[in-house]
Amino acid sequence: MMLKYCLAQICSVRLPVRYFGLVFIVLSGVMSAGASAKQEPTGEPISANDATFSKWQQFTAAELLHQARLFKDTNQPLSAELARSALLSAEHNNEQSIVVQSHAFLASLAVKSNETEQGQYHFDQAFELYGRASETAKQITLSLDYANALVSAKYYQQAETIIDDVLPLVQEHGEPYLSALLLSAKGLSYHKQKRFDQAIVEFTKAVNYLTGKSDKIKQQLAVTFHNIAQSYKHLKDAPRAISFYQKALDVQTSRHDQPAIAKALKNIAMAENKRGGYLVALDHALHSLEIQKTLNNTANYAELLLLTGIIYRQIGDFEKSLSYIQKAETLYEQDDDIAHLAEASNQTGLIYSSLKQFDNSRSFYLHTIELPEDRVKPETRAAAYREIGVIDYEAGRYDVALVMASKSDAIYRSINATLKTAQVDLLLGKIQLAQQNNTLATHHFQQSLVLATQVNNIELQAQAFNYLGRIMISKDVEGGIELLKRGLKLAEQADLKIDQLMSYEWLKQAEKQRGNTIQALNFAEQEIAMALAIHQEREAAELMRAKAKLDSHKMELELTALQEKIKLDGLKLAQKNNEIEIVRQSSQIAELELTKERYFNLLLVVLLAMSLITALLIYRRFAAARVRHKELDFLAAHDPLTGCFNRRILFDRMNKDFEGLEYIQEYSIILADIDLFKDVNDTYGHSVGDIVLRGVADIMQVNTRKIDTVARFGGEEFCIILPGAGEKQAVRLAEDMRRKIETCRFNDVSVTCSFGVTSLQDHNQTPSDLIDKADYALYQSKKQGRNQVTVWHQAIEETG
Ligand code: GH3
Ligand code: MG
Ligand code: MG
Repeated sequence: MMLKYCLAQICSVRLPVRYFGLVFIVLSGVMSAGASAKQEPTGEPISANDATFSKWQQFTAAELLHQARLFKDTNQPLSAELARSALLSAEHNNEQSIVVQSHAFLASLAVKSNETEQGQYHFDQAFELYGRASETAKQITLSLDYANALVSAKYYQQAETIIDDVLPLVQEHGEPYLSALLLSAKGLSYHKQKRFDQAIVEFTKAVNYLTGKSDKIKQQLAVTFHNIAQSYKHLKDAPRAISFYQKALDVQTSRHDQPAIAKALKNIAMAENKRGGYLVALDHALHSLEIQKTLNNTANYAELLLLTGIIYRQIGDFEKSLSYIQKAETLYEQDDDIAHLAEASNQTGLIYSSLKQFDNSRSFYLHTIELPEDRVKPETRAAAYREIGVIDYEAGRYDVALVMASKSDAIYRSINATLKTAQVDLLLGKIQLAQQNNTLATHHFQQSLVLATQVNNIELQAQAFNYLGRIMISKDVEGGIELLKRGLKLAEQADLKIDQLMSYEWLKQAEKQRGNTIQALNFAEQEIAMALAIHQEREAAELMRAKAKLDSHKMELELTALQEKIKLDGLKLAQKNNEIEIVRQSSQIAELELTKERYFNLLLVVLLAMSLITALLIYRRFAAARVRHKELDFLAAHDPLTGCFNRRILFDRMNKDFEGLEYIQEYSIILADIDLFKDVNDTYGHSVGDIVLRGVADIMQVNTRKIDTVARFGGEEFCIILPGAGEKQAVRLAEDMRRKIETCRFNDVSVTCSFGVTSLQDHNQTPSDLIDKADYALYQSKKQGRNQVTVWHQAIEETG
């Protein structure tokens, strides 16, 4: 009878298929309980008004709690009911450990369904019971779990109180790892409240507690570094964010956790991309892709392909960009991942916009809009509408532009995307202005200004002030000038040249309108200077992009040719722009000059001085650019600390060498790893460690031939490729280096180094064969006591 009842109960809740196994376990529990002596409850009778308890009485308390945990995420009411029954049963049978566990579980569950009072009650009970049993560690983990549940449910204040209460206990108890977890939870609470500075303080404290070598600690350390980076990201401190992502990467690298390494590389790539370090971003993205390829996670792989495509677009390599984004699209299509497909489609639109193929671009944005609405993120749809709005506005199709921008505006508003709404409002204002609907335009610009002020975006504020000022000039010159000056001040404050130019141009017109020629002339001069500065900035950016693109192609010859071309084009362009600008300005000024002839001489002097300055600036810019190219070339190929080549160059060279494999007679590589280097860092500090690294690298570079390649392979690992050298020669060289390193002192520190050697003789077919075998030989050197050279086949013989 009872069995049937239970079955009916369990089946009456909607169970996903995967819980059928569980039902089976529950039922077997029922049967065994039925077979045991527990069938007739003995002792005190069950309180008659407690239907819940009687419903489940065939189960032991432990079983009930176990089931409650299983249903925690899928069916909270059932989970709570089971846990309450577990609690009653445990109390009834005096099973203290289950009582306290049930309280702890119910505490978190209550918070999840916003019953904080209930939560606090159960938490207090559990805390008290653990206290009575002097189980401090359990009190701490209980508090930690409960605090985390509170943070997830956004009860930040309560979470912080719990943590502050328990922290002294933890420190007294000497549990550094738990202290770190608690501090991290507190940091997370601050982070979620957008109190990023405070979050960083807590995370940093947590880091100080994470000093052990165990994997658990390292993992937590990586997570904490990542969290610090995220907080810095929100504070818009890109350099610090990147340096902490890098720290997370270093830790994950030492854990050899490939998915985590790939993720950390991706984070760096995204951050670098955002701050304009496109080459570095590309390097990290490609590296991450390389790892993702082996991991069998299509979603992550596709995301990285998309990111790589975006970076290539920034560099201006549109062909590569398109090909990566298309690869991502194919994967998204396979996975029926419409949300990402839409994002990829928007990205393709952007590429075509950059290529100035606006029809193509428009059709990709349309594609985004045509995808099933409920499966595309609203911001993706809004962006597509906005971009079509921009394209149509630029093409003078104001009616369509207005419809599109309005749709975008409505979506951004509905998701409270304030900054984006401010942007679209500015666009709407421009469209209305173009149609001479000044009242509506003013309304939109005001909206944009209010929203931009809310999110503290200076650029949009400056633009809104400028447009508002421009509209007002026709009615109220003084008021218009007032607004334009506010726009100008903001633009100057944030060094926004285009917006300053806009302000100057309209201020000049306003002053002219009210007959203040001296002021007008003044603004005209500033306008010239600004136009020049903008031109130079653009040119410099263009040059950098071209350089980055070529670097990414590794096409050195083309680079020099293009540099020359850009130099010529640039000079011509600069001259032409200058001429145009000067002609335009002088015609305007001539107009002014008619009324005020006495400024004529001054004007001449200004123009002459401007031309001289221009010539000087252009000359200096090209001189500086030349130096910058050289630096960039070096940086792209070398490790900055040791001056050795980097891994990319190493693999490039090996791949190239192996393309002509049939001609290669002899070829060897040496892998070297400094022994117990961590101790050097620990004993003498990281900067002495760096000196040692440089010293060892110097020995390797001095002792190799010009055709050899010495590369930094990892932290304190080096790889040397020796084209044309056979095994004997390679071993002799390694032995020679080993002895020199052993006898040298670097800043009064001595180290030794282990070596692994392999050559074509060992039947190596590919570069990675060579690396793997050298690595194995190196591993043997380490195993046999370090400070020695091992050849691969020797290593094999030794291990049998
Ligand atoms: P083994 O003999 O087994 O190689 O021991 P090890 O201590 O050298 O090996 P392990 O891989 O544990 O430690 C390598 C250390 O190298 C850890 C890391 O802190 C240090 N390291 C990596 N890159 C740099 C760097 O650029 N500068 C300094 N100073 N240390 C580095
Ligand atoms: Mg080492
Ligand atoms: Mg090592």
